[in-house]
Amino acid sequence: MRSSDLVIVGAGPAGLAASIYADRAAIDCLTIEQGTFGGQLGLTDLIDNYPGVEEVTGYELAEKMHAHAEHLGARFELDGVESISWDAERRRFTTLGYAESYESKALIIATGGTPRPAGFAGEDTFRGHGVSYCATCDGMFYKDKLCYVVGGGNTACEEAEFLTRFASKVILVVRKDHLRAQPTLIAKVMENPKIEVRLTTRILSLEGAMMPERIVLEDTVTGETTEEAYEPGSFGVFVFIGNIPASEIVRTLVDVNEFGEIRTNEAMETATPGLFAAGDVREKPLRQIVTAVADGAIAATSAALYLGAIVI
Ligand SMILES: Cc1cc2nc3c(=O)[nH]c(=O)nc-3n(C[C@H](O)[C@H](O)[C@H](O)COP(=O)(O)OP(=O)(O)OC[C@H]3O[C@@H](n4cnc5c(N)ncnc54)[C@H](O)[C@@H]3O)c2cc1C
Repeated sequence: MRSSDLVIVGAGPAGLAASIYADRAAIDCLTIEQGTFGGQLGLTDLIDNYPGVEEVTGYELAEKMHAHAEHLGARFELDGVESISWDAERRRFTTLGYAESYESKALIIATGGTPRPAGFAGEDTFRGHGVSYCATCDGMFYKDKLCYVVGGGNTACEEAEFLTRFASKVILVVRKDHLRAQPTLIAKVMENPKIEVRLTTRILSLEGAMMPERIVLEDTVTGETTEEAYEPGSFGVFVFIGNIPASEIVRTLVDVNEFGEIRTNEAMETATPGLFAAGDVREKPLRQIVTAVADGAIAATSAALYLGAIVI
């Protein structure tokens, strides 16, 4: 069992910012990450809305955040966390990883989320060969092909725009009668001759043998369905309709909303003393890098106050 004052679970933007602030506060802290440092930054191509950095790739920003934390002395452990328990009497958290167990007095959960599936028939069947949740990872496989993009928010608009670098055409499929993105993004999408926006539309099913060959769409107002057929492998579907928060490992210790997002106050405190949540895993109105790092900074500062206050 390894011990530290603070454990941070997840090294996406929220966890990395938390570890930077924890190190600056001279807290004995360990950050546990199961995958790659930077979290969803690894799925993002160009970032042009992080203040002070006009344009940067997700990979570069992730590298910089990780290097910054290491420069300040942050300690990282590559491990996947299975469960977290709280001993109220001893005021200690036990974090059970696949490789190791960790004990701490305070804990920040910064586990982000995974892409929310659209729920059409065939989505699981063609996942990875016709259905994708990452344009940066898979966009290049759609050179001169047709891409359907599901979603009407910021990410869907950004990724539709990005996919036009490869695709011959992008069809943006939006359930509602409007896009929910920032006005500048909507303008970019509308002005892009390679993007067609289909409002009040949803995908009912994706059909085919090895690769998708047909897509069935439904008008969400009239209920009318249309089928569009193509050569196998000549088109794909990208889904960008939000995240499922990775909050299961602390479900018994926190309050969550109907989507499983952790409820916190402005200090990032949860229902358990000493347990803080930061980033996409928590209930919040805007899921972006800038809000994730702000959450991480606040959570680490709150953890520092908590650690100073508890009787050791
Ligand atoms: C395609 C795409 C494009 C985007 N574009 C932009 C953009 O242009 N600008 C912008 O501001 N935002 C953008 N975002 C949103 C932004 O990336 C997220 O809001 C941000 O990454 C959230 O940070 P986070 O640290 O809360 O979570 P994440 O980035 O999800 O990081 C969570 C980390 O926790 C780790 N983890 C999870 N569970 C465990 C476990 N059990 N044990 C150990 N580790 C665990 C994960 O591996 C991951 O590294 C985009 C997102 C996507 C998907």
